[in-house]
Amino acid sequence: MEVKMVKPKTEEEIELMRENAILVSKTLAEVGKVVAPGVTTLELNRVAETFIRDNGAIPSFLGYDGFPAALCISVNDTVVHGFPSDYVLKEGDIVSVDCGTLYKGYNGDSAYTFPVGEVDAETRRLLDVTKESLYRGIAAAVDGNRVGDIGHAVQSYAESFGFSVVRELEGHGIGKRMHENPGVPNYGRQGHGAKLTDGMTICIEPMINAGTRGVYLAENGWEVHTADRRNSAHFELTVVVRKGRAQQLSTFEYIENNVKF
Ligand code: MG
Ligand code: MG
Repeated sequence: MEVKMVKPKTEEEIELMRENAILVSKTLAEVGKVVAPGVTTLELNRVAETFIRDNGAIPSFLGYDGFPAALCISVNDTVVHGFPSDYVLKEGDIVSVDCGTLYKGYNGDSAYTFPVGEVDAETRRLLDVTKESLYRGIAAAVDGNRVGDIGHAVQSYAESFGFSVVRELEGHGIGKRMHENPGVPNYGRQGHGAKLTDGMTICIEPMINAGTRGVYLAENGWEVHTADRRNSAHFELTVVVRKGRAQQLSTFEYIENNVKF
């Protein structure tokens, strides 16, 4: 199989992307502060768009292939690409918030799934396992490995809990464009796929379903739902492939230090 070569970023580019990734991380934390029963998903979108613009950046999802909002907000059985709406969050929901910004010519892209109030134990486990599967994937994002090593790490961890991996969507390279090569699937075989080299910037973003892995596309052509209507979680970080250990550009520390769950 021919694998397209991907050019690593320069250290100057990585520094710009780090600034951007921090802005995305802080935006997600601002959204997390207002996630609660009784709040509409449009309100979450408004908070994010205001924060992004106040910080001199552009919400890059808005208008991307015609997407209508600054955030993708995906509740419960919506896997990704949900539209902010007048839906009112209720106790026990989970809400995945995916945020992209354009800043100084580069893109940032990260996502976090928030519990709304108290969620049941199985849902809490889905969130914890999905996030940990992302960290397992990041641990595999080292120079000399291949994208299949990342996918294998995510998949083997998530499936060991009886959860399933969405196959129709995947992570990606990122830079001047939001989606660059290589694609970074959340499943795969060790030692297979595009080679990872020092300085490559990629988004790893497991989408993990509580039930079966099947999904379908809503009539609006965007929103992806689980086929069995059970919950799905989504966590995404931007990292730099390095020798020995990947470097995280975005972080959940603003969320997890500011928001009590
Ligand atoms: Mg994203
Ligand atoms: Mg992404």
